[in-house]
Amino acid sequence: LDLRTEDLKHVTELGSGNSGVVNKVLHMPTNTIMARKVIHVDANPAVRKQIVRELQILHDCNSPQIVSFYGAFMTGNDIFLCMEYMDLGSVDAVYKKNGPFPMSIIGKTCCAVLDGLIYLYDKHRIIHRDVKPSNILMHSAGLIKICDFGVSGVLINSMASTFVGTSNYMSPERIKGATYSVKSDVWSLGLTLMELAMGRFPFPEDSRPLSVFELMQFIVNEPSPTLPPGQFPAEFEELCNACLIKDPDLRPTPKLLREHSTFVQRAAAEKVDIQSWAATLKQ
Ligand code: ADP
Ligand code: MG
Repeated sequence: LDLRTEDLKHVTELGSGNSGVVNKVLHMPTNTIMARKVIHVDANPAVRKQIVRELQILHDCNSPQIVSFYGAFMTGNDIFLCMEYMDLGSVDAVYKKNGPFPMSIIGKTCCAVLDGLIYLYDKHRIIHRDVKPSNILMHSAGLIKICDFGVSGVLINSMASTFVGTSNYMSPERIKGATYSVKSDVWSLGLTLMELAMGRFPFPEDSRPLSVFELMQFIVNEPSPTLPPGQFPAEFEELCNACLIKDPDLRPTPKLLREHSTFVQRAAAEKVDIQSWAATLKQ
């Protein structure tokens, strides 16, 4: 599929993040609704071309837990990325409008993220690098998928040199600039799951909003957050605590969690009607 700007008709804006805007668009030749993300990159044409080339790996990332990719193209300093449109949007939007998720849905969300991470790493040696609620998308057909993983090394580098690369979900070792591995994504998953269960970002406990730098210091220097005692199943507490082990050497990999966490095992085996739950959501 050869995507061209003139074939895409703007429908609505879906949201915006650090890197740019995401729009819902119609690909007129195929009558396909897509989500089109703009990433503004201030780099020379050769570098931008290289990024678009590297993004082509996305064509090979095919998994039920990964948002599908339609194509990428470049216009001036902007890189456009067209992907599958997920009609319920991201899980952060869903919980902010509908309150904390039920445990059964958190279980399925957790399995989707872990399966997506395991697929990316086993098949493509890709580490996600940006696991957070806004990068987990839902579809009313009952689908949960991850998006916005780091496929292009050149793009990662050109964004890392700006402030765009920082996030509240970054692991202690990443903040400290130490080695980055799949376990860093597990930290981010732990915070994400706690957030979906509690209905708010879990870190830190007091109410004063922290600056990005204060939060980073907090993550590196203070104990990991924990769930309020007695409100959640013990297996879920155990999973969150494992994800939020500060020392990456002691923290489990996605695969270990998938195979050995009691919460994950039960969630994977459980029959959950995500579609019916989704039908009750405020949009
Ligand atoms: P962030 O992930 O930091 O919020 P993004 O630019 O990646 O920033 O995305 C902005 C918003 O656009 C997301 O929060 C999400 O709600 C929405 N969005 C992104 N991709 C899609 C998609 N494929 N389908 C539907 N909505 C999307
Ligand atoms: Mg995103």
